[in-house]
Amino acid sequence: MRATDIIIKKRDHGELTQEEIEFFVDGFTKDEIPDYQVSAWAMAVLLNGMTARETTDLTMAMAKSGQILDLSDVVDINVDKHSSGGVGDKTSLVVMPLVAACGLPCGKMSGRGLGFSGGTIDKLESIPGYRVNLTVKEFKRQLAKHGIVLTGQSQDLAPADGKLYKLRDVTGTVESLPLIASSIMSKKIASGANAIVLDVKVGRGAFMKTIDKARELGNLMVDIGKLAGREVVALLSDMNQPLGEAVGNSLEVKEAIDTLHGRGPTDFREHCLHVSSHMLVLGHKAINLKAGRVMAEQALASGAGFEKFRELVSSQGGDVSFLDDPEKFPKAKFVKTVVSPRDGYVSLVDAEVIGVASVNLGAGRAKKTDDIDHAVGFIIHQKVGNTIKKGQPLFTVHANDAKKLDAAVNDVTKAFEYSTKPFQPLPLFY
Ligand code: URA
Repeated sequence: MRATDIIIKKRDHGELTQEEIEFFVDGFTKDEIPDYQVSAWAMAVLLNGMTARETTDLTMAMAKSGQILDLSDVVDINVDKHSSGGVGDKTSLVVMPLVAACGLPCGKMSGRGLGFSGGTIDKLESIPGYRVNLTVKEFKRQLAKHGIVLTGQSQDLAPADGKLYKLRDVTGTVESLPLIASSIMSKKIASGANAIVLDVKVGRGAFMKTIDKARELGNLMVDIGKLAGREVVALLSDMNQPLGEAVGNSLEVKEAIDTLHGRGPTDFREHCLHVSSHMLVLGHKAINLKAGRVMAEQALASGAGFEKFRELVSSQGGDVSFLDDPEKFPKAKFVKTVVSPRDGYVSLVDAEVIGVASVNLGAGRAKKTDDIDHAVGFIIHQKVGNTIKKGQPLFTVHANDAKKLDAAVNDVTKAFEYSTKPFQPLPLFY
């Protein structure tokens, strides 16, 4: 078998066999198939798609490219969550501690930024010392001792996804239903989750732009999970506008800390409580969503969630003084607030425009080897449906470069549109 023939077959709309998919995944895992061929293949998949059977075979081949973790010697049940990627999506930083504080163990391997969407691992790295590279042994030890783990993808687990993920980020091959489904589900299957809540984002700042496409992705992932013997729930959540207010790594960590203190933006808090209640039900801690929500609210109000986040950061080597005093996070050189040019109602806060602008500021990567600037990003002060007066703040840019600041002001100003008539706020979930 030759990699070139497999690329050509997919380029010409062919359906790959299980053997071909396994050969290709095995080849790039072992570095026998070079990045340029993997990129060409990913582009062919993006353009021509895959059948459900091919996607399932790809998922299983990527899951089996490394170890498949068995956590049954450590916890009775490990509940995981995963987002399909959004802008301002710092949900894991709040939901994981809330759920763990309710006594439900949760160990999660998270990703870095992908395209215009942020990644939990990049966010966590804004906390000095925080280790995102736990070994499988450390993952298990930490889950047993603290009931919470939030780390990057171990080299031993789904390494094929690790490689493909980095290439997709910089080759325009992110927005592919089979590549997203197999990326997420291969990690979840490999990392030993028994039950999974999938947060499938839909809208301008998501990879799935329509509800139909998002539902297709959610259903496909639920089916793959079931085939692998996992309990899976998929939620469809809005990503037309950013989630919460902060977009950018340390700004988002600060917003997560605020939220764990019972403050924080209303939409983000509500989103986190809803995802938490689903996790508590799947993990058999709550009998229904209402009971799960009460538990999560209590963990928030009592401060138990924040204490669990502190325990997580401390146990993974992070400097907790940054959580106790978030003013310690390094600040960007330039901070500029842009105000509304008119009276009216906000009708659009385009999450994709804001996500792309944050990558351009340095909060994400243009090339595989790029470093992240953790201090830069935006605070978005308005939501769709808000009544706005001329001169009221729209957004604040945090930048470390004067030219990038100007470009960001220009770009994000265009993310806003207005209506003269009252405009319906966006739902959180569909
Ligand atoms: N999250 C992932 O892990 N993979 C994707 O492809 C998209 C979101």
